[in-house]
Amino acid sequence: MTKPVILAVDDDREVLAAVERDLRKQYRAKYRVVAASSGKEALDAARELKRRGTPVALFLVDQRMPVMTGTQVLAELVKLYPDAKRVLLTAYADTDAAIAAINEIGLHHYLMKPWDPPEQRLYPVLDDLLDAWSASVRLPYEGVRVAGSRWSPQSFLARDFLSRNQIPYQWIDIDTDAPTRELVKSMTGDLSRLPVILFPDGGHLIGPTNAGLAARVGLQTLAKLPFYDVVIVGGGPAGLSSAVYAASEGLRALLIEQDAPGGQAGTSSLIENYLGFPSGVSGADLARRAATQAKRFGAELLVGHAVTGVRREDPYRIVSLSNGGEVSCHALVIATGMAVRELDVRGIAPLIGAGVFYGAAPTEAALYRDQHVSVVGGANSAGQGALFLSRYARHVTMLVRAADLGSSMSQYLIDRIGTTSNITVVTRVELVAACGSGHLERIDMRRVDSGITETLDTAAVFIFIGVAPRTGAFAKFVQTDDKGFVMTGPDLRHAGRGWPLDRDPLMFETSVPGVFAVGDVRSGANRRIAAAVGEGSAAIFSVHQYLQTV
Ligand SMILES: Cc1cc2nc3c(=O)[nH]c(=O)nc-3n(C[C@H](O)[C@H](O)[C@H](O)COP(=O)(O)OP(=O)(O)OC[C@H]3O[C@@H](n4cnc5c(N)ncnc54)[C@H](O)[C@@H]3O)c2cc1C
Repeated sequence: MTKPVILAVDDDREVLAAVERDLRKQYRAKYRVVAASSGKEALDAARELKRRGTPVALFLVDQRMPVMTGTQVLAELVKLYPDAKRVLLTAYADTDAAIAAINEIGLHHYLMKPWDPPEQRLYPVLDDLLDAWSASVRLPYEGVRVAGSRWSPQSFLARDFLSRNQIPYQWIDIDTDAPTRELVKSMTGDLSRLPVILFPDGGHLIGPTNAGLAARVGLQTLAKLPFYDVVIVGGGPAGLSSAVYAASEGLRALLIEQDAPGGQAGTSSLIENYLGFPSGVSGADLARRAATQAKRFGAELLVGHAVTGVRREDPYRIVSLSNGGEVSCHALVIATGMAVRELDVRGIAPLIGAGVFYGAAPTEAALYRDQHVSVVGGANSAGQGALFLSRYARHVTMLVRAADLGSSMSQYLIDRIGTTSNITVVTRVELVAACGSGHLERIDMRRVDSGITETLDTAAVFIFIGVAPRTGAFAKFVQTDDKGFVMTGPDLRHAGRGWPLDRDPLMFETSVPGVFAVGDVRSGANRRIAAAVGEGSAAIFSVHQYLQTV
């Protein structure tokens, strides 16, 4: 446990040394004594302590200092530590200033110099103040802290990245926490670059990228080897399953995930139809288990960098990464899944992350406790999202374009929505505008049949309107179907799409030999977690067959 600090400030070095000595003698066991010889030094020290998350119990500051008086120094220090006790060291002539400080800065006590003997003139006063401070203080969190604004999309992305990578952190909303707002301002100059990530060792990152954040929190971001038997792109259920089976069967396997293990499944609040979990399992839990399992077998999992391209230098397949690096392999598994389709509606783009979310955004749900939120979409993912949000929100309105949910949602979800009193389903409507300054305040929805537009006050809208394959890095490298999904196996021959060898393509093999595609990104995939997991593992059987040929 970090010891709370007593910060003593005096420009007279002899007096400061005496204060320090007396404070250490009495309080060393429970407190760390920090000394500063000017107001500026004190403020720098306090900012550094705040950055490290170290609590300050008491400021003991001399009133007579050049540049800034003790009262002025205290006025700045309490902005960072409003709960710390404030004591002024005064000379006889400073009494009026000290009395004024009681009103100005909530001074708790003033002590006349000299304070000898400290057992009578110093310790009783400080003991009393420190006891009061300890009784009311909430000791700070000693891990990673994310200081940002609820309305800053970058703050949302950083929190989402950390939580999806299972990195515990404390969220500090600078709109409601004035001392942290002061600190962030002092670090960034203004508040335009958010969030500020504060680490327990005193380090910080300002507005970090996923890769920067991943490296700082100790996630693997660089491949250990220049060559692997198999590289897997995408850490959703399909890719994780490939990694588990490849590594457990002795292959040197590298999985590259741009965001966080789990993929779409990782964003699901509760998966109820995955084999072996009768009470359901959260996507985050499933992702954590699978990632741990893959690593236990020796697979490497890189996070924070995307694969941006691939080329062929037979017998190698060479993958380029967004950090400029390259990794080569014999076999490549594309498991990049699908991404939510974005809605092209007036006002939406600037509010993404500031009340507008694609997908369930589990990290955000709790922030909308007791507020009204909306869900756009009528398929299973929208149903799951609405049920999850209904646990926090006062009310959830589902906006569905179809006439009912029956055409696109599983019956078990329809039944559950029907019995959840704080969900209302509005059918035959579409979202036409998102409005708000700085954050979402209301949406406009149009009745499909009458064309009438209505406005709905809502604090957040969660959009689930379908998905598109994520094939950007491979689109020109492998054959895709008319909708952009990667074609594999016998489909290539049936469609007459350029299979180059005499042998038949292996199961899940794409138009480039040795390159496989599994899961949602594959043309004709079943788009379920169990199917993705099955394909991911079965593809490794094909990888083994292929490796015998190189
Ligand atoms: C909210 C929601 C709830 C769902 N609930 C269920 C359910 O209850 N039951 C069920 O069976 N199915 C459910 N599904 C569907 C299921 O999640 C998907 O079928 C499954 O996740 C597909 O797995 P995948 O590995 O193929 O792809 P994805 O899960 O999409 O994973 C692909 C991964 O690849 C990464 N990636 C993409 N491009 C790159 C690149 N260039 N470089 C590096 N990484 C990249 C992505 O970041 C992503 O993590 C749900 C889907 C959603 C969105």
